[in-house]
Amino acid sequence: MYLQNGPFQPKNHQFPQSNFYSDLRRFNAEWFREYDWLEYSVTKDAAFCLYCYLFQDESINQGGGNVFSTIGFTSWNKKCNLDEHIGKPNSVHSQSR
Ligand SMILES: [Zn+2]
Repeated sequence: MYLQNGPFQPKNHQFPQSNFYSDLRRFNAEWFREYDWLEYSVTKDAAFCLYCYLFQDESINQGGGNVFSTIGFTSWNKKCNLDEHIGKPNSVHSQSR
C-alpha cells in the first residue's frame, strides 16, 4: 500500500532554512523531479528514500545507508550525497529498489 502511494513529495511546502557554516540552505523541491525515490518528512524536516525505508535490512546499516532509511538526510548543502546514496547497481539502494 505504502509503495503504491509512492514517495511523499510535498512540492509546495515552505521548506525551512538551516544554517550551514553561515550559509542558509533548505530542501530543494527540484530534487523530487530528479530522484523519484526521494521522500520529505515535513515534521522532521528531513529526506528519506522510499525503497530503503521500506526494504531495509541489517546490511543497510553499513556504509551510512541508514541516513536515508531511519535517521533522515538533512545535509542540504551536500546534494551529491543523493547520487552517492544510489551508488552502484549492487548497492543496498539498488537492491532495495
Ligand atoms: Zn535508497
